[in-house]
Amino acid sequence: MKGLAYIGNQSVGWVEKPIPHAKGFEAVIRLIAVAPCSSDVHNVEENLVQVGRIVGHEGVGEIVEIGSDVQDFKVGDRVIIPAITPDWRAPEVQLGFHQHSRGLTRGAIISNTADGVFAEYVLINDADCNLALLPEEVSPEEGVMLTDMVSTGMYGAELAEVGFGDTVVVLGIGPVGLMCVAAARMRGAGRIIAVGTRPKCVEAALYYGATDIVSYKDGDVAKQIYKMTNKKGADRCIVAGGGLDILNTAVAVVRPGGNIGNVNYFAEKGDITFSNYMWGMGIGNKTIRGGHCPGGRVRMEHMANLVKYGRLDTTKLITHRFQGLDSIEEAFLLMMKKPSDLIKPVVLL
Ligand code: NAP
Ligand code: ZN
Repeated sequence: MKGLAYIGNQSVGWVEKPIPHAKGFEAVIRLIAVAPCSSDVHNVEENLVQVGRIVGHEGVGEIVEIGSDVQDFKVGDRVIIPAITPDWRAPEVQLGFHQHSRGLTRGAIISNTADGVFAEYVLINDADCNLALLPEEVSPEEGVMLTDMVSTGMYGAELAEVGFGDTVVVLGIGPVGLMCVAAARMRGAGRIIAVGTRPKCVEAALYYGATDIVSYKDGDVAKQIYKMTNKKGADRCIVAGGGLDILNTAVAVVRPGGNIGNVNYFAEKGDITFSNYMWGMGIGNKTIRGGHCPGGRVRMEHMANLVKYGRLDTTKLITHRFQGLDSIEEAFLLMMKKPSDLIKPVVLL
């Protein structure tokens, strides 16, 4: 089979590999929709994966083979493959963090420690715990948005503990931040202040529930938000963009007792610093939580319900559509370039 792999030197290229076979708890899936992600770009640009590794971790497909121990799925089932497909037998799962099963972020198996979804087929470990049926009412392109963008976006709002009537700041409105906005709205936020600049993203942020837009290019974001909130600050802040200094803005925008949920991935090497004064000299009860996208079957079933029952339209994230295996490369290169009209590309196979 063909797959788009990391070939070294910050590049991807096509490789030929044998079609995988399922044993035990595994399943082999023929991909029908995939999407490139900022995390794939990090993996390639920072040379984070081994040469020859097929990349891509956002996919929907049809099961073509199951191992003898798989109980709940059969050949022909259409399934959502979460970005995070951990080993559910590791102790970290009992500690409540399946994303870090077998080590920091090691729940992110596909495209990191095993071949990913930018291929004709992918092998998934522990199918019963990791796959979710794609409901008939959910299209493959809608389904593929659930695997990471929706799950991570929702998690940002969970980490920040957004509640009814809260004023919430969302720093960054790429696809992840947009789903943080949607999540904040679903959890009952009153005011949602979205921070970003690209017109397509701003339009989508307003669609998903932002009540105010702030541009970080118009000066200090915390100062702008202080002015907008009569110097009170926000109840919650979700971080989904920005560089190493972005937590300085996050701690500055929340009021004493405010929570910060970070889903941003800080790729640059360096220290994260923030003002002790803005953090209430250390006694301001401003909590910072940072977390990795949750995966697994139940999470995906819940995310799919949001689309199935009309609570969330994930198609508003998709700005570019491609058809056919070969076009995965074009979609990936687009994600690397990130033109200003791009939110999320999807490839139907
Ligand atoms: P993206 O498309 O690059 O969006 C980033 C956003 O941040 C854009 O809206 C950008 O504004 C904004 N931004 C940049 N600098 C800023 C600043 N100083 N202040 C406020 N906003 C600023 O990225 P994405 O695909 O949505 O992903 C967002 C982050 O989530 C990335 O770090 C990604 O690696 C991470 N991620 C994490 C997980 C996880 O498991 N936790 C999963 C997936 C992705 P413009 O409008 O000007 O572009
Ligand atoms: Zn992703």
